[in-house]
Amino acid sequence: MKIAFFSSEVAPFAKTGGLADVAGSLPIALETEGVEVVILAPMYQTLSIKENPTTIGEKTKVYWIEHPSYFSREGLYGDRFGDYSDNLDRFSYFCRQSLESLKRIQFKPDLVHCHDWQTALAPVYLKTLYRADPFFHRTKAVLTIHNMAYQGIFQSGEFSKVGIGSEWFMVEGLEFFGKVNLLKGGIQFADAVTTVSPTYAQEIQTPEHGFGLDGVLNGQKRQVIGILNGLDHQQWNPETDPHLIQNYSTATLDKKIENKLDLQEKGGLGVDKEIPLIGMVSRLADQKGLELVAEMIRDLCSKLGQFILLGTGDNVYHTLFEKIHKKFDKTAAIYLKFDAALAQKIYAGADFFLIPSRYEPCGLGQMIALRYGTIPIVRRTGGLADTVKDCDQTPDGNGFVFEEYSSKALYQAVERGIKAFQNKERWKKLVQRAMECDFSWRISAKKYVKLYERVIAD
Ligand code: ADP
Repeated sequence: MKIAFFSSEVAPFAKTGGLADVAGSLPIALETEGVEVVILAPMYQTLSIKENPTTIGEKTKVYWIEHPSYFSREGLYGDRFGDYSDNLDRFSYFCRQSLESLKRIQFKPDLVHCHDWQTALAPVYLKTLYRADPFFHRTKAVLTIHNMAYQGIFQSGEFSKVGIGSEWFMVEGLEFFGKVNLLKGGIQFADAVTTVSPTYAQEIQTPEHGFGLDGVLNGQKRQVIGILNGLDHQQWNPETDPHLIQNYSTATLDKKIENKLDLQEKGGLGVDKEIPLIGMVSRLADQKGLELVAEMIRDLCSKLGQFILLGTGDNVYHTLFEKIHKKFDKTAAIYLKFDAALAQKIYAGADFFLIPSRYEPCGLGQMIALRYGTIPIVRRTGGLADTVKDCDQTPDGNGFVFEEYSSKALYQAVERGIKAFQNKERWKKLVQRAMECDFSWRISAKKYVKLYERVIAD
């Protein structure tokens, strides 16, 4: 089976969030299932790529689409002033060139697997511009939605940039309340639509989480399929992680503490293993429940323990957390930047990992935290609901879960967590259990293979 992955980010080369992790690790997991995969991705300025293509895993190749004036920029999709104004030119070019590149390298895919709005035009092109092209005669398309909130919406006047006939600017095509909506086009033209967890698959078909496209999803012949994201267990491994001051495993759990003491010291916090350290690594975006954290920060930092945040994103949150940092400089360490190495230190060094999201398609943070024996405190939504079970409700729980979107509910969950932390025996068992959770690609990669087989056979 031959699969072409189209993705606007691929870890470790270019990353703003979980999409990159998936695009950099699922193909490798598929490779071990005997699938032949190539990845197509934009050649950004930040990449220090020496070879095009670059090999990841054993033999999976990433082909970089070059266009310096489109992709040699500071950001992937925008800068501090907002989204780049020519994003439609950039990503329609990327989709067209990715298809053309497949011809050039003579990789005739059984299926193109696209991700999010940036590559949602590929299924559209396959069914329009390339419909009669013998090279893509049998090529099917799957679209995975990693976050329904980002749809690639542009003014109607820009439709011509898509490069397909104006007849497709209609409800059954890309038109959406008088604008151009790339994700909508992808949903309608793909042979199957998936998302990144079973619960989120249900949620996006409701008005609350559908961001206007719930009706389009409900109108499809086939249901949206939810397949949980997996983790690359080699990359995320406390036993071998080169960024940790001290590696550890379930057999050497006592060593984990060194990472905490180091974080406390470098962050200017009190160095004390008995004080609970609550960590967060997150895009600073509306979805992430940051206002709940801000509302309870006084209690968190003066009564409950210490807080460490690594994040970057919307300006309002930068300002908010700068203020918090000034106020609680002895109990809160705030790093407003993107730093993969520091992220790994936090996953290892914190006692708890906070994800109080308003919604969360899958969430990788809680899975990574579990792998590092750091206990997640999460809101019951999307993939968080599928991966974290509350310790006070189930004997084999692996974290603390709250339901209501409020700082009070979050506070109570943190309090329950700290109670468990103070019971040394209970805590040790919980950390062991957390580290034994298996969120590798083992199961999910097989689900994708089954899906591909079904779609190709249709
Ligand atoms: P999302 O895709 O919504 O951003 P996920 O939880 O699916 O959320 O994935 C986030 C990924 O990005 C994780 O690997 C997380 O560690 C990483 N990440 C987020 N913010 C930062 C940051 N400031 N520095 C380093 N890594 C980050």
